Amino acid sequence: MRVKILGCSGGIGKGLRTSALLVDSDVLIDAGTGVGDLQLDELRQIRHVFITHSHLDHIVSLPMLIDNIFDQLLREQLTIYGNAETLAALREHIFNDVIWPDFATLPTADAPVLRFVEISPGDEIAIGNRSIRAVDVSHAVPTLGFCVANGEKVFAFSGDTATNRTLWPVLNSYQRLDALIIEVSFPDRLAELAEKAGHYTPSTVAADLEKLDHEPEIWVTAMKPGEEDSIFAELQQVLPNRAFNILQSGTVLEL
Ligand SMILES: [Zn+2]
Repeated sequence: MRVKILGCSGGIGKGLRTSALLVDSDVLIDAGTGVGDLQLDELRQIRHVFITHSHLDHIVSLPMLIDNIFDQLLREQLTIYGNAETLAALREHIFNDVIWPDFATLPTADAPVLRFVEISPGDEIAIGNRSIRAVDVSHAVPTLGFCVANGEKVFAFSGDTATNRTLWPVLNSYQRLDALIIEVSFPDRLAELAEKAGHYTPSTVAADLEKLDHEPEIWVTAMKPGEEDSIFAELQQVLPNRAFNILQSGTVLEL
């Protein structure tokens, strides 16, 4: 299983892209600005999109992705997976024939180029040899994290979340966890803002990592632009015995 990080920043700026992970060539997790770096033939291979939540930095490339590969999707439909709230928001606010066409009815309502599939925490979707499980996390809007297993290895992506009791028991239920991509959006001095917005800081993620039985490679994502050095230094201070890796657009995890 090959996981290519297309975007992993909490914002934009030169070299920064928002959340998007390509699993092999056909599964996309989140559709942030990082999707725009793919070649057209790579975009054409995407068949399944898992959306963690409705916030703009996680969905912004979805409308143009579908428009770009419309011809391809006439032959093979695109499936968008998300929780009920995320799918309702996409239908009402994005694919509403005002902001963007309602592709769930194009070219016809009977044979559209995309379909929405509602998933809930605990649901597991099998695609080829990969199994993708939705996990409840705690953010400003209802949000899912995802655990992806291919029979050999397992990685998890937290999505946007603050401290929670739901992700960690699920991670511990797997026999192994090879990589954990976890958000740490704000440094500790912005703890109040982080709590209001539903994000981790180094101290809150350190407390939650105590609940993890596994020793995965830990990859930090969603850091706010300009705060990367502070967050990384604080992580090393609060958890000196854990090794943290900072994700970048273009990082590839071979699992
Ligand atoms: Zn968010």
